[in-house]
Formats: sequence, C-alpha cells, structure tokens
Amino acid sequence: MLPVIATINPATGETVKTFQSATADEIERAIARAADTARTYRTTTFAQRAAWMHVTADLLEAEADDVAAMMTLEMGKTLASAKAEALKCATGFRFYADNAEEMLADEHADAGAVNASQAFARYQPLGVVLAIMPWNFPLWQAVRFAAPALMAGNVGLLKHASNVPQSALYLADVISRGGFPDGAFQTLLIGSGAVESVLRDPRVAAATLTGSEPAGRAVAAIAGDEVKHTVLELGGSDPFIVMPSADLDAAVKTAVTARVQNNGQSCIAAKRFIVHTDVYDEFATEFVEAMSALTVGDPTDPATDIGPLATEQGRADVEELVADAVANGAEILCGGARPDGAGWYYPATVVSAITPAARMYTEEVFGPVAGLYRAADIDEAVTIANATSFGLGSNAWTTDAAEIDRFVADLDAGGVFINGMTVSYPELPFGGVRRSGTGRELSAHGIREFCNIKTVWIG
Ligand code: NDP
Repeated sequence: MLPVIATINPATGETVKTFQSATADEIERAIARAADTARTYRTTTFAQRAAWMHVTADLLEAEADDVAAMMTLEMGKTLASAKAEALKCATGFRFYADNAEEMLADEHADAGAVNASQAFARYQPLGVVLAIMPWNFPLWQAVRFAAPALMAGNVGLLKHASNVPQSALYLADVISRGGFPDGAFQTLLIGSGAVESVLRDPRVAAATLTGSEPAGRAVAAIAGDEVKHTVLELGGSDPFIVMPSADLDAAVKTAVTARVQNNGQSCIAAKRFIVHTDVYDEFATEFVEAMSALTVGDPTDPATDIGPLATEQGRADVEELVADAVANGAEILCGGARPDGAGWYYPATVVSAITPAARMYTEEVFGPVAGLYRAADIDEAVTIANATSFGLGSNAWTTDAAEIDRFVADLDAGGVFINGMTVSYPELPFGGVRRSGTGRELSAHGIREFCNIKTVWIG
C-alpha cells in the first residue's frame, strides 16, 4: 500500500520520502498555538507585517532554484515553470505587503445620513483560518491565501495535498524565517480524513479550499454545519473561443500554452476550444501541428514542454475521459496514447467531434488534452461555452467590439480574458461562479474574504 503522505517522483514513480501524519496531540498543539498567536498577532501593525513579508519574499527569491527543484520532484512540473512559480510567490507577498493597509483602510459612510457623528466599516481579522490546498501549484495556491491572510492579521493552518509535503513544510518554514511569529502560519501534515475535526474546532474561524468539486462540497458542508465562512476555488473547464476576426497565429500559440501549462493541470487552463466554422479548419490544422510538436519528457530537462502528470490516478482519469469520448463518437487528432516506460506521462492530445454524450463535453480534463468544437456563429459559441456546470475563467479571441461586449456579458464565468489567456494576477480578483466555487482570492476582494467587516457607528 502507498504511504499516505509522501513525495513520489511522478517522472519515475519512485517513492522518495515518506512522512508521518500528525498525531491527535500534535494537531491539538498546532491549533492551540495558532489560537494563542492569533490573539497577539492581530495587534501587530501593517508596517511590521509588511516588513516580515518582504523578508519572506527575499528569501523565497534567493532560494528559488532549490524550491523549484523540490516542486518538480514532488509533482512533475517543468523546472522552468516551477522557478517562475516561486518568483511569482515572491511578487504576491510583496504585492500584499505594499497594498494591504490601503485595501483594509476604514471606509467612511455619510455620517449625517445615518444620524451619527462618525460611521465607517473597519476590516478586522477573523482569526485562525484553515487552508486546504492542492498539489498543482504547490506554492502559489497556498501563497494566494497566505499573503493576504497574514497581512489582514489572520493566522493560517495549512493542510496541503498529501503528495507535496516538502513544499508544504517549506512554505511554513520560509514564512517563519521571514520573521512572522511562531504559530502565524503552520503546516499540518494530515490526510483529508483529519480535516473535519480541525474545521469543527471552535478555535478555527473559517476555511479556504482549492481543489476538486467533491473536496469543496465535503468541506463546505462541514463549514456550513458549523456556520463558518469558506472560500472555494474548484475546478474549471474554461472555454477558449476563436472568432473569424482573431489573429489566428497568436490565438493558436496562446491556445497551446493555455492548454498545456503545468502539464495540463491547471484549473484555469483553457480546456475547450470553440472555433467559428469560417476559421475552424485553419485553426485545427495549425493547433494540431503545434500540439504535436511539443516535447514530452523529463521535467528537469530545459527542452521539455510537458512533464509527467502528478499522480498515477490523475493519468488514469485522463485516459478514461479520452476513451469515453472516443466511445461516444469523438476523434483523436493527435496524441491520445501514453508512452512506454516509467513515469506518469501523457502526450499533448487534441480531440474533436465530442458529442454531448461524452463526459468530456461537461467534465474537466486535468491533463494536456484539448477538446475542439465547431460553432456556426457567436450564439452557438456562447451556448457551447456555457454548457458545463463550471464557470471559472473564459477566453475569447476577436477584434470585433460588439462581439467583445457579448462575450463579457454572456460568458458564465468568474473571469473573461479577451485576446489573451487566463492568468491569476495579484491585482485582479480570482474565482468562479456555479460549480467552480464561491468567493474571490487576490486583489482587495481576496484580502477582505477573511475579515470581519465591522460596522462602527458613533453618535
Ligand atoms: P482533491 O480535490 O482531492 O485535493 C485537493 C485538496 O483537498 C488536498 O489537500 C486534499 O487532501 C484535500 N481533500 C480532498 N478531499 C477532501 C475531503 N473530502 N475533505 C477535506 N479535504 C479533502 O484533488 P485531487 O488531487 O484528488 O485531484 C482530483 C481532481 O481535482 C483533478 O483531476 C482536478 O479536476 C481537480 N483539481 C482542481 C484543482 C484546482 O486548481 N482547482 C487542483 C487540484 C485538483 P489529500 O491530498 O490529503 O487527499
């Protein structure tokens, strides 16, 4: 049987290091330390928190090469993308260090209108927040929570995915070395079965989860029962619509990156390519050619475009969805078969003629598999785009102003990116609608999620 919490190299399938799950006593001590720290940490100034955050960012930047190697070892992303992720985290820390105070400044209302001498909203921290995070961006997913939470005066308990324990321990360590008090941000090495008791603990105020829909539903149900706030960032099956006026070469190039980034395992990856019939054949030819030219292999080799999928189960899930699509009439235009040898590799794959009966039509494919759809006109493009239960990001390529307005208005998603790919920027809100989740991360919206927005009325 596989160990529960372990680093298993996806490029070889070899178990590199195993970890003991925290005992009940260790969990209790961590929660107690978090709660104790929360009481004093909330009184620290923005300037103090920002100083610690800048040190953390500097450390992360200085250690980016080693951190990147660790992420690649644990979940198979290419070394180049792992380094970019580490540097992005440093940027995220600095962004909140420099902007949190302004984002959380008191918001004054018209005092006269409410019969007060003064009336305002004040943002105060909630306390201990549990963060349940996935393996696909082992640092960034957690930093997206940690940086705003710490700047708002909250403390964090991180339950990371069981296959990235070293990344999880590193993050808590670098935050501690940055100068944050003991207990401000701790990693709990626990499996998903131990989440319920932590979340029900009265000292834990709220939770955030990034991951699959079933995990989100399970955690939100417990939080709901305890009347605790959650932010959920779940899956997506983002549309990427190409209209006749688009710059086709740029659209193809971006389509490839948008689909295979992170070995195809990103919630905001474009997954369904919906192309207007007038440019469908040209787009399909160029797209298949570009996807076929990608190099699949050792993630530490700079020549590699696509490393292995993070888990054996993840690859099996992708294979199952592709086989199901073919059984329901779809056609594989390139890829579609795992290579021989060790490691959980899967090639860049393009599938067309996907019928509504196929699971791929509505479900997320978490691997480098693109679904190609033909749309007769903009109405059909929007209908296909909205035909899943997700609503995370969306992309559309057109230079027509009326079409841009239509996509902005009618795509059911938390974000719409025109003539570019969906990216999470600290400056912009990030999150979804429908089954893609609730709440927002990043920007001022993200930092306010875990705040008590206290109404202050002084007569
Ligand atoms: P999961 O959603 O299972 O895991 C994400 C996190 O949630 C992990 O920390 C996991 O812990 C935890 N978790 C899982 N189930 C529960 C539960 N019932 N209660 C509390 N915590 C839970 O993702 P998987 O790795 O299994 O991936 C499966 C699918 O999820 C992917 O194919 C993809 O569709 C989607 N996904 C989406 C991501 C996104 O960025 N939105 C990221 C990762 C996956 P543990 O590891 O210990 O099980």
